[in-house]
Amino acid sequence: MALSRGLRCCQRVFSWLPVLIIASVVLWSYYAYVFQLCLFTLSNTLEKVAYLLVFHVCFGMFSWTYWKSIFTPAASPCKKFQLSYSDKQRYEMEERPNAQKQILVEIAKKLPIHTRAQSGAIRFCDRCQVLKPDRCHHCSVCETCVLKMDHHCPWVNNCVGFSNYKFFLLFLFYSMLYCIYIAATVFQYFIKFWVGDLPNGPAKFHVLFLMFVALMFFVSLMFLFGYHCWLVVKNRSTLEAFSAPFFVNGPDRQGFNIGIRKNLQQVFGKDRRLWFIPVFTRTASTAPLEGRASSEAARSTSSAGPFPHYGRGLLEPIPAIFGQEPGYTLNRSPANRRAHGNKKTFTLTGNLGSSINLLRMFLGCGRFYPCLDKTHPGTGRTCKLHTDGPGFEPRSPEL
Ligand SMILES: [Zn+2]
Ligand SMILES: [Zn+2]
Repeated sequence: MALSRGLRCCQRVFSWLPVLIIASVVLWSYYAYVFQLCLFTLSNTLEKVAYLLVFHVCFGMFSWTYWKSIFTPAASPCKKFQLSYSDKQRYEMEERPNAQKQILVEIAKKLPIHTRAQSGAIRFCDRCQVLKPDRCHHCSVCETCVLKMDHHCPWVNNCVGFSNYKFFLLFLFYSMLYCIYIAATVFQYFIKFWVGDLPNGPAKFHVLFLMFVALMFFVSLMFLFGYHCWLVVKNRSTLEAFSAPFFVNGPDRQGFNIGIRKNLQQVFGKDRRLWFIPVFTRTASTAPLEGRASSEAARSTSSAGPFPHYGRGLLEPIPAIFGQEPGYTLNRSPANRRAHGNKKTFTLTGNLGSSINLLRMFLGCGRFYPCLDKTHPGTGRTCKLHTDGPGFEPRSPEL
């Protein structure tokens, strides 16, 4: 027992190693660029100021998106998808696998679930004891089910999924920008050092390495970013690209594709001004599904329960967290606390003007849970979200 706990502890420590490597390389690149190149090598003041200004914008955006990718917790299915006590008893008492499957089918009728396992059975996670919502998968590293799981990324030591996919894409984009900016501005000094126009010294080696490392990272990031752009346009996760999602009628690679514009909106939100800013902007979409999958989706959702207006492409959980519901802010009033058993409650759906929410967004510490009244494990705080998609509780009218 103690051994397995020790092993898990070691595993947790080692899982930060890739993040540490990236952070070290970035810190070194900062030192090499700002000090060795700009301050010690460049002589023209105007050039120096311009280089440093643009560099710090790129560096700031890169750091912000990296931070948000790492520290935005993955979203898990809400209580609605967990087996109730009686259902769990019934499920565990039953020994015949077919009867167990039938129990799950009955429970799933009340839930907006449209994807199936390859065998045609309802997707159920034994470890989390939840019926998996569409596009949800269990991550064995995080040991939890993750909504719209894309993949577990060791470089951010986090699951990339519903809650942080936009941040991850922006992280790739700003990393590329950071690398290409360094490579473009360092190039002429790289040549000068190479041909001996500038004197030998520590700056020479920093500049030479800076050029190589920036180009190397740029090329590898370009492929990864290109691949993810293709996935976003097709509305596919990495897992779905490897194995097509199964629906009631069989596998369908295009199952979630609702057109390029809407596919992009699902990841980046409707407000284009916020597409390149790492804040949560996904919209709560209640529009009927348009396009070729609509009739099929309408058929498939007609018996699905509470969300008949959702088409396949909109089946994933869509919480409105920031900026969608003006007027929702942190709620720490004594009356609100009394109403929730004296627990500290707060709402993360605050409008963008709220400075504390801006701070939360900036730091990425807005820990949110897709369930209403789900208690924060560390602090006992209760997070309230207003959501209206499968995988989440419906909107709460009380706040
Ligand atoms: Zn699970
Ligand atoms: Zn994970």
